[in-house]
Amino acid sequence: MKILSFVIPCYGSEDTIETVISSVVAKVREREDFDYEIITVNDCSPDNVLIKLKNLAADDPNIKVVNLARNFGKHPALMAGFSIVTGDYIVLIDDDGQCPVENLWELIDPLENETYDVSMAKYVEKKQSAFKNFGSRVNSWMSRTMIGKPKELEFTNFLVMRRFVLDEIVRYKNPYPYMEGLVLRVTRKIKNVTMEEHERFAGEGNFNFNKSLELWVNGFTAFSVKPLRVSSFIGMMCAVIGFIFGFVTIVRKLIIPNISVGWSSIIAILMFVGGLIMIMLGLIGEYIGRIYISLNNSPQYVIKETINVK
Ligand code: UDP
Ligand code: MG
Repeated sequence: MKILSFVIPCYGSEDTIETVISSVVAKVREREDFDYEIITVNDCSPDNVLIKLKNLAADDPNIKVVNLARNFGKHPALMAGFSIVTGDYIVLIDDDGQCPVENLWELIDPLENETYDVSMAKYVEKKQSAFKNFGSRVNSWMSRTMIGKPKELEFTNFLVMRRFVLDEIVRYKNPYPYMEGLVLRVTRKIKNVTMEEHERFAGEGNFNFNKSLELWVNGFTAFSVKPLRVSSFIGMMCAVIGFIFGFVTIVRKLIIPNISVGWSSIIAILMFVGGLIMIMLGLIGEYIGRIYISLNNSPQYVIKETINVK
């Protein structure tokens, strides 16, 4: 008998979480060769989701609750859930009912009957705002160039992984976990299974501009030093262009002695180069800040209490 471990980060989902959990339980009961545990992580949600989770856990010992001390964000919340996983396959789903749980077995299949290590949903049509779509596109481009995601692979919120993938992921102890980077560090045997995403049936998405930006910056700086290389390259190009431009200016002054002095071009160049230097300094600062915070042993997450966890 294999155990499926569902990990659900919860934030602002008091209206949806019960439906999500009951649909998961109903789905797993379809097959007798699988048992389940549902690990819910309350990411210090401002609503009453914790009370709902506690009630659910009181009725079903397979439902476990991890209560975080403050809001850490989705990825750290997942890491907190991972720390108590006992199952063979780990299934990640969101708390808002958008993951099509009815397709669970299609997702498990590539791990059971083929040699894939991770299997994840690929949604035919994205049920999200234009802004979020743009965000996903930028994110996808970033993962491709920075952390070597295969081009066709789509990384989504509904996925299943083998136990060894999770064991490797939980070895990551730095305060900026990022699922995509962590999964791609372990394996490339990832299968996309096409399915349809649900509309969200209540509430609003919690990912705002700040959170998205944080994830992007996190995505590349935590798992790649390519931005540093790109910025050095741009800096070098600018230096070369500046040198040629200076040379041309001197030659012109020699050929046409009474040419007027070009203050505006000088200011333009100053600002251009100044801007570039600021960008590069900012990037280096970002990396150094992260090194500092990692050395600092800042926690990924802080667990305040757990329920039904042995
Ligand atoms: N989430 C979290 N902490 C946060 C924000 C979100 O744990 O601070 C979880 C949330 O409970 C959900 C998942 O991250 O399970 C995705 O959140 P949401 O549905 O708001 O994002 P979207 O689907 O718009 O990407
Ligand atoms: Mg959502």
